[in-house]
Amino acid sequence: MFHQMYEEKYMRFYGGKCKAVTFSYDDGVKADKRLVEIFDRHGLKATFNLNSKLFDCERWHGRMDEQQTYITFYNRPHEIAMHGARHVSLDKVPLAEGINELVSNKTYLENRFGRIVEGLAYAYGAYTEDILRVLPSLGVKYARTAKSAYGFSLPDNFLLWDPTCHHTDERLFACAEKFIAADPAGELKHREPLLFFVWGHAYEFDDNGDWDRMETLAAQLGGRQDVWYATCGEICAYKTAYDNLRFSSDGERVYNPSCLSVWIELRGRTYEIKPGNTVQFDKEI
Ligand SMILES: [Zn+2]
Repeated sequence: MFHQMYEEKYMRFYGGKCKAVTFSYDDGVKADKRLVEIFDRHGLKATFNLNSKLFDCERWHGRMDEQQTYITFYNRPHEIAMHGARHVSLDKVPLAEGINELVSNKTYLENRFGRIVEGLAYAYGAYTEDILRVLPSLGVKYARTAKSAYGFSLPDNFLLWDPTCHHTDERLFACAEKFIAADPAGELKHREPLLFFVWGHAYEFDDNGDWDRMETLAAQLGGRQDVWYATCGEICAYKTAYDNLRFSSDGERVYNPSCLSVWIELRGRTYEIKPGNTVQFDKEI
């Protein structure tokens, strides 16, 4: 019997899961510490986008100093990413200055935290076509915008990665409920994996007196067996590994040249393709 739906291949996230959740928070402020505690309590993972020349600007939304930043993020499961050295709007400085903003930011974070830093959140959500062109040569693998997609798709271009929505968005909880209720593996169409991606600034919870908003969201999204909790960088790296899978001409065999296990669904079955392995798909269900 011919089932067209079963002949299509779908990426599944780590562990074969259909859904992933990530968070991206900007500016390296004191309130990040409380936010990290909430994320940790619910098993959520996040990316924190840090500037590197504004540590003493406490008046600017209560930024952490260098030592507080280090203590908050060193050796934690969360990712640290670029947000520009001085939080300048990349569309309002010469290209060379913009490049310097990113390279100096990346170099500082990498040396301070002993990691490779490959993510970026555009300060003010701003970028130019010239910046977009140079990001790959600067070692930037993904860059988050400040534009709400109100959807759960992975981006076509990781350098223009629109999150689902900001945490103050009035549609936040409606989006979360829709995401939780969705079941891509049980659908005839729309079987693509889903990502729920929230961004913001932790100081906004202090300013608006609404930490309960994040507590509610974290409780709603956390602890789910069908969700992969990952940083933005982990999701980008995973999707890249998936995109680098090599298939035989008839699509019945796949080779994974990457160093990450990758999961794929075909004909109602989910396969783990381990690093360096070649897998033959079953013909029948
Ligand atoms: Zn910012």
